[in-house]
Amino acid sequence: MRYIFPPAPQVGVAIAGSDGLFPVRRVYCVGRNYADHAVEMGADSREPPFFFSKPADALVSGGGDVPYPPATNNLQHEVELVVALASGGADIPLSRALESVYGYAVGLDLTRRDLQLAAKDKGQPWDMSKGFDHSAPIAAIQPLAANAHPASAAIWLKVNGQLRQQGDVQQMSWKVAEVIANLSTYVTLAAGDLIFTGTPAGVSKAQRGDVLEAGIAGVGELTVRLV
Ligand code: MN
Repeated sequence: MRYIFPPAPQVGVAIAGSDGLFPVRRVYCVGRNYADHAVEMGADSREPPFFFSKPADALVSGGGDVPYPPATNNLQHEVELVVALASGGADIPLSRALESVYGYAVGLDLTRRDLQLAAKDKGQPWDMSKGFDHSAPIAAIQPLAANAHPASAAIWLKVNGQLRQQGDVQQMSWKVAEVIANLSTYVTLAAGDLIFTGTPAGVSKAQRGDVLEAGIAGVGELTVRLV
């Protein structure tokens, strides 16, 4: 048997200090994982983690020019620590969860907030508010060998030079190991999976022409221009 037309290309993300590419399988995201962001979204800050997905081809490796998406008047930025997995499994024990990590990156969970709020109101899925084309800019992945697990690290985002989001990854309600262990109770994780781990407070509307600069200390920086 052969494919009736060429299959879509494998999505890859750049790796810092290497000409290799990280081959992406799936992209998962954690909702409301920083208490201050949960509060600004009107939610309980102590609820268990919950997950949604983006298609792998929504990733924009290295950032740069990103088209402003159609069908929204309220595109918002969410800067996030992204975990890249080198291995996986189901029901991964908490004590072994960090063994599956290949490295970390800074990423943006771009969100059509107007569509997301409408979906929440109607009990509808978030796919079109979260999983649209170019919705996941991501910087080069920092392999773990060059960077220990960032238990505490400043995370920030500026819009046109103005600081909008500022926090520390230690504020995550559910830590990286807990996120991996919990997610693996729902799905079998595997090498190539990425997990966006949630955003601190300060999300705001971004416009065409805006320059978004984001970073996580020791992990990397990412610049995106909305065009
Ligand atoms: Mn998010």
